Amino acid sequence: MKMHIIQEKWSDILNMIKIEHDVSDVSFNAWLEPLEVYKVEGNVVTIIVTNGSMALDYINKKYLLPLKVSIAETIGQDFEISLVLPEDIKEEFKEPPTAAPVSLNENIEKANLNPRYTFDTFVVGNNNKMAHAASLAVAESPGEAYNPLFIYGGVGLGKTHLMHSIAHFVLQKNPSAKVLYVTSEYFTNELIDSIRNGNNTTMSKFREKYRNIDVLLIDDIQFIIGKESTQEEFFHTFNALHGAKKQIVISSDKPPKDMEILEDRLRSRFEWGLIVDISSPDYETRMAILRKKEELDGYKIDDEVIEYIAKNVKSNIRELEGSLNKIMAYANLEKSEINLALAEKVLKDIISPNQKRIITPELIIEVVAEHFDLQPSDLTGNKRNAKIVFPRQIVMYLCRSMTEVTLKNIGKVLGGRDHTTIMNGIDKIEAELNGSNAAPTQEIIDILKKKINPSK
Ligand code: ADP
Ligand code: MG
Repeated sequence: MKMHIIQEKWSDILNMIKIEHDVSDVSFNAWLEPLEVYKVEGNVVTIIVTNGSMALDYINKKYLLPLKVSIAETIGQDFEISLVLPEDIKEEFKEPPTAAPVSLNENIEKANLNPRYTFDTFVVGNNNKMAHAASLAVAESPGEAYNPLFIYGGVGLGKTHLMHSIAHFVLQKNPSAKVLYVTSEYFTNELIDSIRNGNNTTMSKFREKYRNIDVLLIDDIQFIIGKESTQEEFFHTFNALHGAKKQIVISSDKPPKDMEILEDRLRSRFEWGLIVDISSPDYETRMAILRKKEELDGYKIDDEVIEYIAKNVKSNIRELEGSLNKIMAYANLEKSEINLALAEKVLKDIISPNQKRIITPELIIEVVAEHFDLQPSDLTGNKRNAKIVFPRQIVMYLCRSMTEVTLKNIGKVLGGRDHTTIMNGIDKIEAELNGSNAAPTQEIIDILKKKINPSK
């Protein structure tokens, strides 16, 4: 598992060393590029130095600590490093290959799946019957039933749950199937990263990854559209997979015909297969979903309380579940009985409608952190590696352009930085946006703005 993560992030790990230690291209190619991860056992990463014993000595002296730090920063865990030469491991290579057991858990993790989002836990109602049936058909015969399957609907109605269900089902039946679930932001970030790194290897790695898959599930495609380079790349990915009869599943907040800035050639492709929608659940379905959740979590709750939630929380299943969670958490905390009075008290905020989202630096930090897979404390903290510095500058820029907060106060929220630091950060992003390679940064900004203020 760790092996997989370290391997996947290997080029990031090496690039971080390059940036932090200002390693020239020549040195990078001579020492770091030839390193390969061989295995990870316990807390030891074994790295093969493919270019000889002299290189091994030198790397031991000069790059051992940077490697440790970079791995720790990227993976979030400390590892010891053992450097070996190819001949050191020849013996191991000679052993008869142990039939690599493909563990289902490992596959589920590789495919980015939530173990709880399966067909078993999905409640079928009038609002999602078609979407459910189509998903099941696709899961049973990937690439054959409907390709692509396009699922659309509002927030929190079960699109992601259905997509994961398809992926679980396929992996359950065929553990070696190559199944990949990604959000379209993840796809975009990964693509932009490869473009920013600006070399052919990163691009061809990206392509290889996405074109070598049996079932590709792309969630929330609306974040891709309007971004020229991502749309273009996705178009080619789509063609390659579809041409090879590989299954594609797409979700979106709208049907293709209402996606205004979608290029026509993509729109028509989205319409090749089957388009299904999920709408808001009716009262019976809401009740059934709450009951299912009660069963899964092992609670026993009064009908009265369940009915109260189902009656009042209507639009969104995530909120429906959230309401139940909130009541349970409150009851636990206060050691109180779960009854209608408690439910009314706890859900007062959720049920009173029309709360407008106020945009604050804190909200921006939270959204940016989540988008880049960081913690808010990374952004407010002092670490200076590229993975963090860029998102931090983005926060500065967005605070400036989306709120009225002063530079001084932005600095305060960002861990007590002074206003010139904030100004510099904003300048950096503005310079990128006005530079010759503005598109990738502009795309990130657009996506983030949309996430911070979905109503705009
Ligand atoms: P979306 O991707 O459409 O925004 P999600 O798939 O994330 O929505 O669903 C939000 C939450 O509601 C998830 O926890 C999911 O498990 C739950 N949920 C949605 N639809 C159903 C359903 N039909 N049965 C059970 N749980 C559901
Ligand atoms: Mg979703």
